[in-house]
Amino acid sequence: MNALESLILGLNRLRNRFPGGRVSPENLLLLVPHCLQRCTCESNITQDVDQCNRCGQCNVADMLQLRDEFGIRCHLVSGGREAIAVVRDPAVMAVVAVACEKELADGIRAVLPKRVIAIPNERPNGPCKNTRVDVDAVRASIRKLLGTPA
Ligand code: SF4
Repeated sequence: MNALESLILGLNRLRNRFPGGRVSPENLLLLVPHCLQRCTCESNITQDVDQCNRCGQCNVADMLQLRDEFGIRCHLVSGGREAIAVVRDPAVMAVVAVACEKELADGIRAVLPKRVIAIPNERPNGPCKNTRVDVDAVRASIRKLLGTPA
């Protein structure tokens, strides 16, 4: 287990110490790293994730599909500082965070005890390039926090 995986495991343990109740969709944030975007994509989704035209070549389209399906928030971030700012919004009560960098995971840890489920991304091309995420795991985490059956 590497350092990031240990950190995420620790985050999930901390989250379980603050079980909380069901979260409303408008209070649930799906936080994803910019490195999910395919590196050849020319859509400027850093400023506005809805600039993604959902071509399906990377998991950004899947994250938007989940956002729309559940009526939750979704934010794409470039690093830990931005993640902290987004998660500190008082309207955000719980977070499903796709973790790319230790910095991002640290940012999430900084806003505990808000409920966080951190999902490690997949890095078939090395760090921060064309990363992927298990969409089913993200969906299951959203359902868990919303309290909706599978
Ligand atoms: S789904 Fe397509 S348009 Fe959207 S970010 Fe990925 S590559 Fe770009």
